[in-house]
Amino acid sequence: MKKIILILLGILTLFLISAIILFAIYKDKLHDTDEGGCGSPDKSILLINISHNVDEDCSELRYSKGILVQKCDIIEHWKIEIRGEQVGEGVLLERLMAEKFINTEKADSSIESTNRSVILRCDSSAPYKTIRFVLETLIKDGYWKILVNP
Ligand SMILES: [Zn+2]
Repeated sequence: MKKIILILLGILTLFLISAIILFAIYKDKLHDTDEGGCGSPDKSILLINISHNVDEDCSELRYSKGILVQKCDIIEHWKIEIRGEQVGEGVLLERLMAEKFINTEKADSSIESTNRSVILRCDSSAPYKTIRFVLETLIKDGYWKILVNP
């Protein structure tokens, strides 16, 4: 009986040592994963969100038991965010221009398109008008690697 307890303690000790070593090895990688913002695993990926964001309660947007029953079509309630910072429609083109070549390179030297990947995350009830505006602005700015709600 004593031998079994000693063996179990030995196995437990080995597990603990392994866990500590693995944590020490991957600790830095764990911190790196969120540098791109909002869980983006790759810093070179530009993450853009479109979400319903108003200070007061919205009378339009309604859910019942977690299921959407009425959409909000008030365009001003839908915000475009880059790394958690709200970006107005009037400055989106300029802002995306500044982001184009961060951590990446030009797709083609003769044109100003970028190889930078973009993930566009939209709430399921986000107005199509806003989504289309962001997509058109990205394309105008030379982005061509765009994933929508992957
Ligand atoms: Zn609303």
